[in-house]
Amino acid sequence: MQELTHYIGGEHVKGTSGRFADVYNPATGEVQAKAPLASKEEVEKAVAIAAEAQPAWGATNPQRRARVMMKFVDLLNRDMDKLAEALSREHGKTFPDAKGDVQRGLEVVEYCIGAPELLKGEYTDGAGPGIDMYSMRQPLGVSAGITPFNFPAMIPMWMFAPALACGNAFILKPSERDPSVPLMLAELMEEAGLPKGLLQVVIGDKEAVDAILYNETIQSIGFVGSTPIAEYIYGTGCAQGKRVQCFGGAKNHMIIMPDADLDQAADALVGAGYGAAGERCMAISVAVPVGEETADALIEKLVPRIEKLKVGPYTAGDDVDYGPVVTAAAKENILRLVESGVAQGAELVVDGRDFSLQGYEDGFFVGAHLFDKVTPDMDIYKKEIFGPVLSTVRAGSYEEALKLAMDHEMGNGTAIFTRDGDAARDFANRVNIGMVGINVPIPVPLAYHTFGGWKKSVFGDLNQHGPDAFKFYTRTKTVTSRWPSGIKEGGEFNFKPMD
Ligand code: NAD
Repeated sequence: MQELTHYIGGEHVKGTSGRFADVYNPATGEVQAKAPLASKEEVEKAVAIAAEAQPAWGATNPQRRARVMMKFVDLLNRDMDKLAEALSREHGKTFPDAKGDVQRGLEVVEYCIGAPELLKGEYTDGAGPGIDMYSMRQPLGVSAGITPFNFPAMIPMWMFAPALACGNAFILKPSERDPSVPLMLAELMEEAGLPKGLLQVVIGDKEAVDAILYNETIQSIGFVGSTPIAEYIYGTGCAQGKRVQCFGGAKNHMIIMPDADLDQAADALVGAGYGAAGERCMAISVAVPVGEETADALIEKLVPRIEKLKVGPYTAGDDVDYGPVVTAAAKENILRLVESGVAQGAELVVDGRDFSLQGYEDGFFVGAHLFDKVTPDMDIYKKEIFGPVLSTVRAGSYEEALKLAMDHEMGNGTAIFTRDGDAARDFANRVNIGMVGINVPIPVPLAYHTFGGWKKSVFGDLNQHGPDAFKFYTRTKTVTSRWPSGIKEGGEFNFKPMD
């Protein structure tokens, strides 16, 4: 059995706590590796190394730091297939989707190549008589990031690329369920020229997270994961005086207006609802057709599309639409919620409960499910299922559909499908959700914009990547300077022989 390591001080280091987590191959159900779970002492060791390495890196000019990012982009492209394969093997997502995971992180690294421009600061010449004023963006010191299982390449890069480009050292605590790609990324950063000790990977669970939260050297914490943990980390981290941003769970609604192109909407729903087995924080999990006629026609178009979905292992390449979910526990949770939907009176129009894949009976595959006539009081509506289950809530009017999305406690993403520009514009303006798609089902902003939800999907005030990341990973220092009168007033300006 392979024993994974931490990556501390530029070395692969075996865990010393004696505690391990199983890392599965979700397609076969086999345990393929053991991941060490760090103790408080192991986290503290990494923090001490980071604190030692950071001042020289912070003092390195931003252009040189950016060059490391440039080289890292080349290396990511060189190793794209290798990274995607390792990612699919531990996570279960399809091979093309795993490449997308790396690619969306790579794009943030590309953005960070602009660090010299983004860190330029502000300058006022002559703010008063003889007074100049300038603001600098300085690194925080040591930053930490705690990341979820569902994007093991993209989300770590969303954090460490801007943190490092800003001159910080970074400690990554990736998900213990699929930590191999984060370890590979740390090695590649060093190959790209990052000095040792600046990007370290410490695998762990609550013990490691608490060690990060209560460590006095760590200045900032980024978190992405489920809402209850986000809330805990935000509250505890802020109480320790740290800068914290936490991104939580989601329940994304897609509103389908009566004038929408229903074939387009159905295609979009199938991709956004079932892609990556629904294990995306931007997945659409609730379809809200407006009007009974729209609902009936939409269901009619959805059913054959969903029944045709190909579910299989990543080794089938382009030939599968989605793979297994991450663990047996995740599968059980999804099926339990499906049962609750049936028990609470929703109509299970596509029933994937008996799904089993020949040759992969022990894998964590879940068949696709479609519910109709879901109501807001049901658990399948209130909770994040994080699986291939789409719920349909029928709305009588546009206002009712809008209110439904607005009343849900989560506010990560949403979409409207319509041909009416006025309805789309009204929706985008009024909805209390952070990322909005208009005829776009998964509106994930690109690297140079920022990513973040509203309501219980976020804790903190700055978004991920884009210009916000450069604010999150730096502190502003403003200098007001006046130089006393110098030689120019008392000096002699005529050429005179020396006395
Ligand atoms: P999770 O909350 O279980 O784990 C996230 C991280 O927290 C992991 O590193 C894990 O080790 C750690 N953790 C788990 N339990 C902990 C505890 N009790 N104390 C301290 N740390 C703990 O989330 P997950 O299952 O890995 O990821 C799925 C969730 O992430 C979903 O809710 C999804 O919506 C969310 N997510 C949100 C975004 C976003 O940008 N809003 C993006 C991706 C995923």
